[in-house]
Amino acid sequence: MGVTASQPIYAVEDIPGKGRGLIATKDIAKGTRIISEKPIVSISQSGGNIEQLQLSMHQQVNSLREADKQEFLSMMNICPYNNSTEEWFGIVRTNALPMGPDLDAGGVFLHACRINHACDNNATNFWNENINQLTIHAIRDIRKGEEITISYLSSLRNRQARQEELLKNFKFTCSCRLCSLPPDQSRDRDAKLDRIHEIDGIIEQGGIEALVSAPRRMLGYVDEQIQLWSDMSPNEVGLGRAYPDAFQIAIANGDFARARIFAEKVVDLYLTTLGKDSPDVAQYKELFRDPTTHNYYGISMKWKTTVEDIPIEFDSQIFEGWLWKRRKPVTEGQLADFRDRETFPSFGGLPDQSGCESDYFDCGDIATRRPMHHWCFLAEVQDVFGFSPLHVVVKDVNGVVLPLLVHTSCPGEQISPSKIQKGYTLAILYAVRRISLFRKPFIHLEKPKMVKVGSSRREMSPSLTKTCRSFLYHLTDCKL
Ligand SMILES: [Zn+2]
Repeated sequence: MGVTASQPIYAVEDIPGKGRGLIATKDIAKGTRIISEKPIVSISQSGGNIEQLQLSMHQQVNSLREADKQEFLSMMNICPYNNSTEEWFGIVRTNALPMGPDLDAGGVFLHACRINHACDNNATNFWNENINQLTIHAIRDIRKGEEITISYLSSLRNRQARQEELLKNFKFTCSCRLCSLPPDQSRDRDAKLDRIHEIDGIIEQGGIEALVSAPRRMLGYVDEQIQLWSDMSPNEVGLGRAYPDAFQIAIANGDFARARIFAEKVVDLYLTTLGKDSPDVAQYKELFRDPTTHNYYGISMKWKTTVEDIPIEFDSQIFEGWLWKRRKPVTEGQLADFRDRETFPSFGGLPDQSGCESDYFDCGDIATRRPMHHWCFLAEVQDVFGFSPLHVVVKDVNGVVLPLLVHTSCPGEQISPSKIQKGYTLAILYAVRRISLFRKPFIHLEKPKMVKVGSSRREMSPSLTKTCRSFLYHLTDCKL
């Protein structure tokens, strides 16, 4: 991967219905750098108002070598114009390719700008800041005689959205293989692309807060995206956006093991699409070496792991299940894992009453949200102060001692004083953490039956653990 062609492997030719384009003159392997090129003219949005930009463009074009100028003038212009300054500016607006991720700078490239668009493009363009050149890499194997294509789209959407974007910005109707699929195949593909796009929006909207408050759900979204891509066809560019998201989710929660694996995947993808001299490859190589150098590291340590936690003997299906934290289907008689802090969270790990995304409820709306899985707050009673409401001091599974109030919303159904004593263990299903006006932590319960009290004096003894596990198991029959 990341191979640079030593001699031209393409020719600029007339393509029926498309003007000129690039044709592969030999088989090109995926990952090959097809073009590495400096712009002949460039433009930046910070370069002033439209008149100043047009003036700058006029000067740049006039100072080109005659052959380059003729080549520039032979490029298409879809913008109306009244004079040569406006015409040349129109050529730039029609043909410029981005020089950087922020799209505020672009350039005209003699070869790369001849590459036509296809929604199922076989090559991709990136601006490489290390070498100050635009690169074009093959993102799949290209056969001799095949047209080399890139995507002009901001993202790969459904057919209608693609057609609208291309018509609005480039004034043509795409008839690539993807846009020519029969309606039923196109519908199926569009539904998948819509879902990928929707997930991009959810992750972007959730921001850093959701990476920490609902990491498992966010990781599930990225897992879904990657499975959708593999259901269609491998898309190195799409995957190259998804895996960095997975990396951020892992490292924001202290998960060194998964972050390292995701960083390695990003390096592999970027070697194919950007090449080994790309600054992004160097960045993710460093993050692979030490994920803790990322500035999100330590925001939460909820998923804390070390490099030793990377499983080595799992088969690929089990490994993928571990990597994406996929929930295993619950079978009858199966006991919950007491060490699993999502099933048996500490007080600090419980969902709170805020309306933000969480891994525990199916939506952020407090009035209508429903648990997505079973969880149980376990704590040893250290002291008892009162019963209406229950007011105790407890030690949670992390050994944190805290005062705790347990409210129920059913009058007369408070927990009986005879059922609770110092040394007993509280088990509260679907517990939600709250902080009172006086900054005291408490747990609010809708139904007192969600509390079980064990009488063992030994802290989290095996027998009590079993009680709690089976308590959880029996409640798995409850309709959520
Ligand atoms: Zn198309």
